Amino acid sequence: MIDCQYLEPTTVSEACTLLAEHGDDAKVVAGGQSMAILLRNGLIQPSHLISIQHVSGLEDIVASDEGVKIGAKVTLDRLIGIGETHPTLRALDDVINELADQQIRNFATLGGAICEAHPASDITVVLSTLNASVKLASAGGERVVSMCDFVTGAFATAAQSDELLTEVVVPSFDLGSAAAAHRRFVLRAGDYPVVGVGAFVSLDGSGGCQDARIVVGNCSSAPAHAQEAETRLKGHSIVGNNGAIAEAGELAASHVAPSSDPMAPSEYKIDLVNVLTREALAEAVARATG
Ligand SMILES: Cc1cc2nc3c(=O)[nH]c(=O)nc-3n(C[C@H](O)[C@H](O)[C@H](O)COP(=O)(O)OP(=O)(O)OC[C@H]3O[C@@H](n4cnc5c(N)ncnc54)[C@H](O)[C@@H]3O)c2cc1C
Repeated sequence: MIDCQYLEPTTVSEACTLLAEHGDDAKVVAGGQSMAILLRNGLIQPSHLISIQHVSGLEDIVASDEGVKIGAKVTLDRLIGIGETHPTLRALDDVINELADQQIRNFATLGGAICEAHPASDITVVLSTLNASVKLASAGGERVVSMCDFVTGAFATAAQSDELLTEVVVPSFDLGSAAAAHRRFVLRAGDYPVVGVGAFVSLDGSGGCQDARIVVGNCSSAPAHAQEAETRLKGHSIVGNNGAIAEAGELAASHVAPSSDPMAPSEYKIDLVNVLTREALAEAVARATG
């Protein structure tokens, strides 16, 4: 039997006060999709569950000068088709439709998907590719952490036990010359991916690459930038240059060292990094020039 107190604050401030009061013994619960599995299997035994279901102000999607701000409680279902209303988020569309199943997407929240910090998470890969950041609130105030620094390992984040993730900010970029895409490989529909790769490119007027981000998921404990591949692309012509994109795929693959697991042997994952990097890059370039 699960024996813990279920608390239901209605404001961020109340939630933060409860988190400060109960410290490591308390856990936030949002959509409960991962939390239910952790509790059912006895992997965590919190004395208090702090539900944010009734906390107001965490459910909006707003475009601002900073970029698109998405509240922590926005469900994955609400993000389906987000690229149509907020085109800079189109890479999220590559993922959300295929992620888990409709029942899970109805309840799972963006904040929960990030804070779970699953090594195979697609969401953390896409948000790192988009250079997003997260806002963390506590009784002591607020701070902003880049997605690239937020996931610190498998199921581990930079959030302290008294902090609540309140918002994700995806910075804007020039849609006429930059774009992102994500590609993943799954064994069965609804599974976590064997490997996922996100790519972002920003182009100059002559098809040269001004900036590139390539983020690989499920080949290490946290999303990892393929830095050598990014460096290979920056400053070089990439529009119509399949050779450069193929080289980036090979570089990304040659710098990962995934473990074998029941889903796939290490060598297969390395091949996937090569293929998915090329596909994500080619799609990002097509979107940036399309
Ligand atoms: C069968 C299945 C398949 C899945 N497949 C995929 C997949 O292919 N790709 C993918 O990316 N994801 C996948 N997921 C993960 C899914 O995205 C997460 O389970 C879900 O989004 C978690 O959101 P939640 O709101 O239910 O979080 P919860 O289960 O409520 O919480 C998850 C964790 O985050 C913490 N937390 C939640 N919200 C906050 C907050 N605002 N501030 C601080 N901490 C918080 C909780 O304390 C807990 O540790 C899958 C999940 C399942 C169950």
